[in-house]
Amino acid sequence: MAGKVLVIGCGAAGFVAAITAARCGADVTVLEGGSTPGKKLLSTGNGRCNFTNRDMELSHFHAGKKGFPAAALTAFGTDETLSFFRNLGLYSSDRGGYLYPRSEQAAAVREALEHECARLSVELLTDQKVIRIASSREGFHVETLSGKRFLSSAVILAAGGQAAPKTGSDGSGFRLASSLGHRIIPPVPALTSLKVQEVSLCRIWKGTRTKGEIRLLVDGRECGRDTGELQLTEYGISGIPVFQVSRHASYGLLDGKPVHAVLQFLPEFSREDLSGLKEDFSRSSMDIGSFLRGLLPARLAQALLGEIGCRESTPCYALKGNQKRRLLEMLTGLDLTITGTLDFESAQVTAGGVDLEEVEPVTLQSRLIPGLFFAGEILDVDGSCGGYNLQWAWSSGYAAGKAAAEGKRLPESAGSSAIRRTGSGEEAFRKGEV
Ligand SMILES: Cc1cc2nc3c(=O)[nH]c(=O)nc-3n(C[C@H](O)[C@H](O)[C@H](O)COP(=O)(O)OP(=O)(O)OC[C@H]3O[C@@H](n4cnc5c(N)ncnc54)[C@H](O)[C@@H]3O)c2cc1C
Repeated sequence: MAGKVLVIGCGAAGFVAAITAARCGADVTVLEGGSTPGKKLLSTGNGRCNFTNRDMELSHFHAGKKGFPAAALTAFGTDETLSFFRNLGLYSSDRGGYLYPRSEQAAAVREALEHECARLSVELLTDQKVIRIASSREGFHVETLSGKRFLSSAVILAAGGQAAPKTGSDGSGFRLASSLGHRIIPPVPALTSLKVQEVSLCRIWKGTRTKGEIRLLVDGRECGRDTGELQLTEYGISGIPVFQVSRHASYGLLDGKPVHAVLQFLPEFSREDLSGLKEDFSRSSMDIGSFLRGLLPARLAQALLGEIGCRESTPCYALKGNQKRRLLEMLTGLDLTITGTLDFESAQVTAGGVDLEEVEPVTLQSRLIPGLFFAGEILDVDGSCGGYNLQWAWSSGYAAGKAAAEGKRLPESAGSSAIRRTGSGEEAFRKGEV
């Protein structure tokens, strides 16, 4: 028999967890810390919400435990997501495999989820920031900042990570999980921009967009590579290809390792194209500024010329041998030293989170505390750009909602030994320490 399920956090994962649990017959209450449920959804995909993707290869998900997201994604993947939203009246549009609501309005996704919660009589309470959770024989005791107390047989912790804290995900979910004995893999900004040491380049190229490839090296080892539109900024580099590799930069820097980004500004050039370019370059009677403007945005060309100490008016043939060599090197492999990432305010997601070793992958139930489930970004799973983070929120919300409502429990031995180890937060709750 389904009992009382408390969902903490009403973002993408909390919404789907609540709907799924209610559909399975549970009495569901959602406690949302902010005043607007699903606030982050509104800013997704530049307000259009890229909510899933046709390509659900596991390689688009980065998880602390290899293969962990597979079970939830198999049970609730692209097709299930499309049909879930279609049943809520939301049509989709496909842009080369990237799926958006037909209306291209993120607000429509939020509205559909809120409407379904209401239809299912899910109790959705806003301005109820949870500050304590403790488990006891009776169930979970949950307390909010406003002084409200709740008792439930299951808790789904879906409080998000630390990215975009203005939308409510301020990292308090990690503190709650930690108070219950869960280990937190250090949270770092992901899908974010990178700061570089080469400020002389930045001063000139700021505001430029150009096609290119980025390779990210941590301690000399390539960890990520992507191609697309690079944005060159006053502090470094941005744009989707940079976002895609940024999680590796965050962890490399956290570990104190040297992190480099190598930019290739002519990624579509074949070997023959490059040797043709070299020949043109040596023969050309044009000045180097005009020559480069045929290849690159003006400010990028200017920045590269600055690096080799050459004026734009210098004829190509007058460049010294080492200047030519260096210029060609920079066109195809500009090496930048990464000094940092932008902070959580600017990041789209959090890498790190609740350690997956302590979570069961099919039900997303805690291995430490039976009846405690996790969903969404709070777990140590982050996806690439392209609808993968929302897909993880939907898939994990579905898995946790279903298992919580069905009263799935880990074998007594698995839970009880761990409870002894963690103390279940009860003592700390009573003392008001958590
Ligand atoms: C600008 C931006 C654009 C993005 N675009 C896309 C995109 O197009 N496609 C994509 O797949 N992903 C995108 N993402 C990522 C995606 O939005 C998130 O990964 C996803 O929303 C995470 O869902 P969640 O439910 O786990 O967490 P959240 O959406 O962060 O929700 C957590 C909720 O919990 C609440 N909460 C936190 N702590 C407490 C507490 N102590 N008590 C009660 N409530 C609490 C918060 O207020 C919040 O409402 C984007 C992110 C950003 C910031």
